[in-house]
Amino acid sequence: MAEQKRDYYEVLGVDKNADDAALKKAYRALAKKYHPDMNPGDQEAEKKFKEASEAYAVLSDPEKRRQYDQFGHAAFDGPGGGGGFGGFDFNGGDFGDIFGDIFGDLFGGGRRGRSNNGPMKGANIRTSVRITFEEAVFGVEKEIELTLKVECKTCHGNGAKPGTSPETCPKCGGKGQVVFTQQSFFGTVRNVQTCPDCGGSGKIVKEKCPDCHGSGYIASRKKIQVSIPAGIDNGQSVRIRDKGEPGTNGGPRGDLLVEVVVSRHPIFQRREYNIFSTVPVSFAVAALGGEVVIDTVDGRVVYEVKPGTQTDTRVRLKGKGVPSLRNKEVRGDHYVTLVVQVPDKLSHEAKELLKKFDEESGDTLNAAKRATSGSDNNKDNSGGKGKKKKLWK
Ligand SMILES: [Zn+2]
Ligand SMILES: [Zn+2]
Repeated sequence: MAEQKRDYYEVLGVDKNADDAALKKAYRALAKKYHPDMNPGDQEAEKKFKEASEAYAVLSDPEKRRQYDQFGHAAFDGPGGGGGFGGFDFNGGDFGDIFGDIFGDLFGGGRRGRSNNGPMKGANIRTSVRITFEEAVFGVEKEIELTLKVECKTCHGNGAKPGTSPETCPKCGGKGQVVFTQQSFFGTVRNVQTCPDCGGSGKIVKEKCPDCHGSGYIASRKKIQVSIPAGIDNGQSVRIRDKGEPGTNGGPRGDLLVEVVVSRHPIFQRREYNIFSTVPVSFAVAALGGEVVIDTVDGRVVYEVKPGTQTDTRVRLKGKGVPSLRNKEVRGDHYVTLVVQVPDKLSHEAKELLKKFDEESGDTLNAAKRATSGSDNNKDNSGGKGKKKKLWK
């Protein structure tokens, strides 16, 4: 049986507005207490450690935190669930980065060596694109323009002035890491740290390339095609792999996350995969039954209103809603609220006909008169006070 997951904020013992420093502090304390190295064979501690690590991994990432705040644990339930793309996975560079930072401090640098001076994935870039309601429903291709770092053509990305080349770092001998031993609360620890001189690249650029100032990258305006899938909702993001910041030491580029901002529609509202709208229905059609035209995202449809339909009756147009992100063949429904219109501008003739109609159908225009004359007959029972008819306006 699946265990109920605890709230991430509760796991870390912080409140919903906790900032990065507070999250880190809370996680550090828990990680120190429950780390498997500190509690060998203690399964409960290991469980607590994993739980805290997962909570921290999510809450320390602004995008994941936003998704979690919005959708709760459902944000990370499988592909396309709640939070949309990206989901949450423990693999890949992100996780290493998060913990390298924490464990770097915690274990005196001993653990971070490997993850930090090897190839590291670049940071993700976030941007947004505005689309219409219909584009969100049916999907759309959009072109966005943004500034990306691209390899400098002058130095081919090595950062050295043309005619020179990067030299092997003398401090680490090109290995990118330096090794030393240190006392920590685990005893003597053999420490591997990123070389401070070359930053882990193993190379030193003596004369910098004039075009990129030694970084190996220049900023370039790029046009990027974004395929926005049918069914996407406001606030969800499309991930485009390898269009983020360049990686370091040969690591892959980060990703580009394009948040979708959906414009409001004048008549349609959306809730998850269902669409809602209201349609006016004349009194005659509501009473006698008849056809009304309803706008849907697939165009106009003619709907047969049943005789005797009351106002605010909600009808369902099956399959006229938003396609599911996972399978666009599966669509939500369109719910239409039929609002019966009371005529407020009537010709003399229409008024006379309506009065006649009323006489035929219960004489409601004179119902109050009948009711109050009825109470006059009961005067004696009401104590003879002679209640006067009160007119509320
Ligand atoms: Zn260059
Ligand atoms: Zn070095």
